[in-house]
Amino acid sequence: MPLDHTHDVARRSWIESANDPAADFPLQSLPYCTFSCPARGVPDPVPGVAIGDRVVDLRALTAARMLAAPSTRDAWTIADIARLPSDARRDMRHALFGLLVEDNHSLRDNPGLLVAAVHFQRDATFHLPCDIRNYTDFYASLDHASTVGSMFRPDQPLLPNYKHVPIGYHGRASSLIPSGTPVIRPRGQQSPPEGASTPTFGPCRMLDYELEVGCVIAEDNTLGTSVPMSKAAERIFGLCLVNDWSARDVQRWEYQPLGPFLAKNFATSVSPFIVPVEALEPFRCEGTPRAEGDPAPLEYLQDAKDRASGGFDIVLEAWIQSEAMSQAGVAPVRISSGRSFSRMYWTFAQMITHHASNGCNLEAGDLIASGTVSGPTRDSRGCLLELTWDGPGKPRRPVDLPGGEQRTFLADGDTLVLKGFCDKPGFRRLSLGECRGTIRSSR
Ligand code: MN
Repeated sequence: MPLDHTHDVARRSWIESANDPAADFPLQSLPYCTFSCPARGVPDPVPGVAIGDRVVDLRALTAARMLAAPSTRDAWTIADIARLPSDARRDMRHALFGLLVEDNHSLRDNPGLLVAAVHFQRDATFHLPCDIRNYTDFYASLDHASTVGSMFRPDQPLLPNYKHVPIGYHGRASSLIPSGTPVIRPRGQQSPPEGASTPTFGPCRMLDYELEVGCVIAEDNTLGTSVPMSKAAERIFGLCLVNDWSARDVQRWEYQPLGPFLAKNFATSVSPFIVPVEALEPFRCEGTPRAEGDPAPLEYLQDAKDRASGGFDIVLEAWIQSEAMSQAGVAPVRISSGRSFSRMYWTFAQMITHHASNGCNLEAGDLIASGTVSGPTRDSRGCLLELTWDGPGKPRRPVDLPGGEQRTFLADGDTLVLKGFCDKPGFRRLSLGECRGTIRSSR
C-alpha cells in the first residue's frame, strides 16, 4: 500500500483540536467507531469517525449526500465499510479526509449539518466499534508463549507445533464488551487444594488481564474458500485494543485437553476505535523475525512482502489504578510498556490465511486478537501471570503500587487501562486509544 497525502504530516484539519501534536486522533488517523449521543439527537448507535476531540456521524454525512454510503441500507454500519473491497475502503477514507482537511469548507461552513453530524467525544457514548459476530484469539507472541510455557513445562516451554501453526481458540462474541464496561469477577471451578482430591467452586482468585491487539476483518470469503497470503493483507480492516480478561485458576484446571473455555468468556473488553490499516501504513515493520535454526513456515503461510512488512510497530502499555488510589486521587500507574508487537511470531496476514485455510468463512467485522503481547524483558510482559513470575519454584514477586499496595493478580475495584500508539519521525503520532475496565466483586 503506497503512502499518499493522507499520511502527510503537514496536512491540518479545520477541527483545531486534531492539530495538537499530542492529539490521539489527528486528521491522518480517522479511526472508525460506533457511538450514540442522546443529548444531541443521536439516541441509537451510529457509525462514526473520530477526529481530535470530536466524533463525526457518518450516516448524517451520507444522508446529506456529502459522502457516498457503503451500502444501500439506510441503517448501514461500520461492518458495511469493512465489507467494501480495499480500493473502495481507501476511497471512503480519502473522501472523509477531504471533508475534514483545513482547506475544504463544505462541511465546516454548513452550520445545520455541523450541528447534526459533529459532536464532542465527551458527550458521546461509545459502543463496540462494530457489530462483531465472531471472535478468535491467537497466541502469536513467542515471548509470551515461552514465558508461560516455562511455568507449566520447564523442560519443554514451547510445544513442538508452535513454530509451524498459529495457535488460537474460538472466543465468544456475546461476551465482548465496550471499553469502560465493568468486569464482574467470574466464579469457576478450580483445581483441588494441596492435599485434597476434590476441586472447588467459587470466585476467581487469580484474575488477570491480557494486553492484546485486535484486528477487525474486512470483506467476506464464502464457506469452503480460503484466503491466500497474497490476499490476506487486504482482509485487514483496521486495528484496535483488546483485553482478554483471564481467570488463571479456572484456566489452569480446565485447559487440558481442549484449551481455554470458561476462564476467558466471561468478558473481553474492546477499545472504541478501529484505526484503519491505511493509516497504519507508515508504521509497518518486518514480520515474523525467525531465529537461525527456526523452521520455515509451510508454503501456504509464506509471502515475501509479508515477511518484509507484515508487522506493525506499536507501543503497548498497561496501566493500573486501585480503588484506594482512585479514592486518594492518585492517577493510574504504568506497569508495562514495550514495542513488542513488532516481534510477534505470526503476522495478522498469517493468522488470517491460517484461519481460512480449512475453508472457514471470515466475515467483515469479525475480530481476531493477537494473543497476549509480551516482550523479552520483564517490563514488557503483557499480563500479571508473567509480570509477577520470578522463575520456577520461586514465589511470585508482586507489582508494587503507590500507597504500599501490591498486586499478584487483580483485586476488586482495580481499573486496568490498556493503551497503544505509533510514533515515528516524519509522521503524525497515531493512537489506538485506550481499553479500560474496572473489576467488580463476584455476585
Ligand atoms: Mn488471550
